[in-house]
Amino acid sequence: MIGKHFIGGTWCDSRGSGTIPVRSPDDGAVFAELARGGADDIDAAVAAARTAFEGEWGRTPAVERGRILARTARLIEANAEELAGIEARDCGKPMKQARADITAVARYFEFYGGAADKFHGEQIPYLEGYTVMVKRDPRGVTGHIIPWNYPAQMFGRTIGGSLAAGNACVLKPAEEACLSVLRLTELLQEAGLPAGALNVVTGYGEEAGAALANHPGIDFISFTGSPEVGTLVQQASAAHHRGCTLELGGKSPQIVFEDADFAKALPYITNAIVQNAGQTCSAGSRLLVQRAVLDRFVPLLQERFAALRVGASGDDLECGPLISKTQLERVRSYVERAESDGLKLLAEATIADGASPGGYYCAPRLYGPVPADNVLAREEVFGPILSLIPFEDELDAIRLANGGDFGLVAGVWTENGARQMRVANAMRCGQVFVNGYGAGAGIELPFGGVGRSGHGREKGMEALREFTMAKTIVFNHG
Ligand code: NAP
Ligand code: MG
Repeated sequence: MIGKHFIGGTWCDSRGSGTIPVRSPDDGAVFAELARGGADDIDAAVAAARTAFEGEWGRTPAVERGRILARTARLIEANAEELAGIEARDCGKPMKQARADITAVARYFEFYGGAADKFHGEQIPYLEGYTVMVKRDPRGVTGHIIPWNYPAQMFGRTIGGSLAAGNACVLKPAEEACLSVLRLTELLQEAGLPAGALNVVTGYGEEAGAALANHPGIDFISFTGSPEVGTLVQQASAAHHRGCTLELGGKSPQIVFEDADFAKALPYITNAIVQNAGQTCSAGSRLLVQRAVLDRFVPLLQERFAALRVGASGDDLECGPLISKTQLERVRSYVERAESDGLKLLAEATIADGASPGGYYCAPRLYGPVPADNVLAREEVFGPILSLIPFEDELDAIRLANGGDFGLVAGVWTENGARQMRVANAMRCGQVFVNGYGAGAGIELPFGGVGRSGHGREKGMEALREFTMAKTIVFNHG
């Protein structure tokens, strides 16, 4: 299936010409080719989805939709090692990360398989002689555009929820990372998904992606990626008067108060910026530490950063390469800017001996103190670069944490229960972790942002609200 699109239940060639090389982030070598989809392929995929929605798939009862998704979950588990190997090679993820991602995608299908027939509408008490019901109807044909950082997980999150709700889907994965998506699509087919319920077109964002975002035959769009492309997707949605969810990344704060349990916090704080080489929308990339404990806290963190090792996916170290040369250059430009701004490098990890010179390796770095208005404290780097920002007291911490353009996740580290509650309530973002961190695994927890992080919620039952629309039916039987 590599090199093909999946349209109307069959694997097919591109209607246009050209292919897209697939490079390994470990060494930069080309090892596969993808089909380069365009507007004609998207047209065919949208038409197939519409046919499915108005046909067999649209008539499939919720319980049966659930069973197909649950069977998919079991197939993913049965093929987990193969899928993890595909994801690791395609994205340069250490195997332990790839395995965790496959566990999560199985969980998405398990969760949405169970949820499909348990997401109910409501009945509203109205006037004498009336009965009112509010149904949750599927949107119809949903478009899905996902990024390269967690392709398997994103597939489970967006496709699992949408299929559970009864929609027919058209997916355009990121051209940098499609291979697990194609294999997962095969497993859905094997689980008995009717033709056209899911269609996958691989291709470049400016071609297949733009064609999908602008297609008049789509009823709703779920997008995850950069704020810039998110704007284009929302503009296209506006032109067609349809809804969209946008998940656009963040600059999430981790707030360490003087009474925090350092031993508990340190592994989470390190992992939150090193996981997936920092290419995580919910990366904890701003570390706010109360000034009174800087002297005690920072050396412990420096020690951890210095001990981290970066290597190829197969070496399964703490950190793998970045996804692409473009991303490596992008992260390097932030490092160069940090140097020219005179920011102090507090710690740097090591790239393992034997890492291929052709790979996209970037050592995790800790800078601080970083002024709150510096680029490194404000922009999403999408790499393993952590900015340390000191704060004075609780009000100062809240002001700094809420100060940027983004609002996705926050971490609050304190043993004081009242402060936990006050600060969590004050955070302007979609998820807050108190004495813990990690948005990825909790697939049942609603997730999404405010401001430049986007809008709408995915994951959990909340996603089913987005992937359906309320339809009110009023019976006058008086
Ligand atoms: P991106 O360009 O926004 O890509 C996200 C998805 O949108 C990909 O499938 C992409 O396709 C597609 N796309 C690109 N241009 C499009 C267009 N004009 N119309 C419709 N779809 C389009 O993100 P990126 O270039 O991969 O990464 C750039 C930065 O975005 C990162 O450094 C990071 O800051 C942020 N980002 C955030 C997340 C997140 O999880 N929130 C994920 C990835 C990136 P192609 O990739 O195939 O071109
Ligand atoms: Mg890209």
